[in-house]
Amino acid sequence: MTDRIEKVTAHVVTIPRDVPYLGPLREGESVNRAGYIVRKGNRTLYPTVDRSVVLRIDTEKGLTGWGETYGIVAPEAVRAIVDDVLAPVLEGRDPSAPAVIHEDLYDLMRVRGFFGGFYLDSLAAVDIALWDLLGRRLGVPISTLLGGRRHERIEGYVSGLPRATLDERLAFAQDWQAKGFRGFKFAAVVADDGAEAEMMALREGLGPKAEIMADLHWRHTAPEAIRLIRRLEPHRLFFAEAPCAPEDIEGIAEVARHVGVPVALGEELRTVFEWQPRIGARALGIGQPEMGRTGITEFLRIGALCHANHIAVMPHATIGVGLFHAASLQASSTLQKLPWHEYQHSIFEPNRRLTQATGTRHMSCDAGFYTLPDGPGLGVEPSPALLAALS
Ligand code: MG
Repeated sequence: MTDRIEKVTAHVVTIPRDVPYLGPLREGESVNRAGYIVRKGNRTLYPTVDRSVVLRIDTEKGLTGWGETYGIVAPEAVRAIVDDVLAPVLEGRDPSAPAVIHEDLYDLMRVRGFFGGFYLDSLAAVDIALWDLLGRRLGVPISTLLGGRRHERIEGYVSGLPRATLDERLAFAQDWQAKGFRGFKFAAVVADDGAEAEMMALREGLGPKAEIMADLHWRHTAPEAIRLIRRLEPHRLFFAEAPCAPEDIEGIAEVARHVGVPVALGEELRTVFEWQPRIGARALGIGQPEMGRTGITEFLRIGALCHANHIAVMPHATIGVGLFHAASLQASSTLQKLPWHEYQHSIFEPNRRLTQATGTRHMSCDAGFYTLPDGPGLGVEPSPALLAALS
């Protein structure tokens, strides 16, 4: 007899952190009454804590699947969408066709213009939970369901150097280099001495074998970005991320045409419908899909689109408890052209206690490489510590 979805529940999780994301508060930055900071460098809102939305799907036969999406800002918006829109539609449905369900849920709101935003974040969480459920039911990792695992280990690059001064940031990168990491990405928006000085100091301090990437945080006009990236090129920049505003597709394409390093982008994009015009304009050389925004079904479609257009995929990693990160490793492991996966040390390591393996091996990132979990579904599930923190 077919199993059916009995219950879909969204939980908000809040995890304190020592240093705010993107480093200590800078001059002119303060925490508002809702607990958010506006970062002056990129004019973007961040919480002082780590926060996430964890989604649980239970079936009538007692199986459980876990998903997760962004909860860093307005997590109650996602919970409301799940409670009011998605859960009632999903209850009673056979959960065994995640991609079909994903398409059906997308259709529910498309004529109202919900092609992205919190609605798609909510869909990502549902999609991950459905794939997890299917993998657990069949006793195989999600990567097996997706066509098979090509990479058992995935190289991770160190993302963000959350220290107050350039000297401290270099020392921080050198610590990670000593642990075996080869790639380092700095955030140009918090490079107080300028991106060029940051790049030069990192190259000098990390040596010729390191790969150095710059996240430009959507901050520049196309001509500004071209001038800046050209100044970084002699120091062998590996890629330039998010040079211009995400809406400025022509501008980003112009940057891509005029610089000698690949433009990387995509963390803010949720569907192939958003990726297609950028790929069509040849605006990117490296795609950075974010599992917490795409879910597994759409992540794979983006991966296929990149593959068909000779674009390497280097998935984004962000603030979460580890469930969508595990999903990202599962889906990434099936991609052919995958040079690296982002590694957010300040999130991945402290939050690893929030998940546990569903098999014999937990996910980890040591000496520069992620090792994938070997258990069914995501390969990880909430630990007792996470279950206790769900609200
Ligand atoms: Mg970024």
